Amino acid sequence: MAHWIWGLGLAGAIAGVAYRARALSRSGAVAAWVVGTVFFACGGWWATGVLLAFFLPSSLLSALGRSRKAPLILEYAKGNARDWGQVLANGGAAAGVLLAMGKGLIPREWGCLFVTGALAAATADTWATEVGGLALTPRLITTGRRVPRGTSGAISGLGVAASLLGGMWIGGVSALLLRWSPFGGNSLCRGDVLWWVAGLAGLSASLVDSWLGATVQRVYWCPHCEKETERQIHRCGTPTLPLRGWSWCSNDVVNFIATLVGGIMAVTLGG
Ligand SMILES: [Zn+2]
Repeated sequence: MAHWIWGLGLAGAIAGVAYRARALSRSGAVAAWVVGTVFFACGGWWATGVLLAFFLPSSLLSALGRSRKAPLILEYAKGNARDWGQVLANGGAAAGVLLAMGKGLIPREWGCLFVTGALAAATADTWATEVGGLALTPRLITTGRRVPRGTSGAISGLGVAASLLGGMWIGGVSALLLRWSPFGGNSLCRGDVLWWVAGLAGLSASLVDSWLGATVQRVYWCPHCEKETERQIHRCGTPTLPLRGWSWCSNDVVNFIATLVGGIMAVTLGG
């Protein structure tokens, strides 16, 4: 019980600071409060530290890239402040697994690997988007055709390298924190394997993310500017038309699937 109360306080404080720094919208702060509480209550400092290792550099990267990528951000569905959909897309699957792990429904070692892999995926995708957004000649993952920066499903060497590094960063932090965690006393979550397991999990999840972005994710078309966008109302004010993809398959849904892929990949590779 004490864990939940500490979790509420700690997650509430961090979500509050992130809201004031405009890294989270109002709905995003509430969702982060809930997700953060579950992370602390069920996974202690290890899970909380891994969550922060995803959240802090990602927010910093968004802020740093803001000026250079300003025109691109307008094409993406949302601005810089993460809303509840983005928070759940990035942390929801891991929070669910932590809850199940806390109840003893799944083995701890699987839970550790899944949470590390899922957050590696979230980090890999964010780093790939932020850093890859700077690449000059991205190509579509399905056809290899050159596409404008910011197109859904575009990949670049820079983005792929960033996603591998993002995954390895999470794996390294997770392995380090597991040394002092009660969850760390198992053979599967060893530091010497976790960083590359997480790197590969993040990289593959990021590629799946791009592939879904190029195929089934909902993308709209602005008839006025003749441009692809994730927005339903384009920045010029024109309502956009569905161009391709399934209506329910938003960027958040794609990101959620990517974290599942990252988690399952890590359990498969490490387990
Ligand atoms: Zn337009």
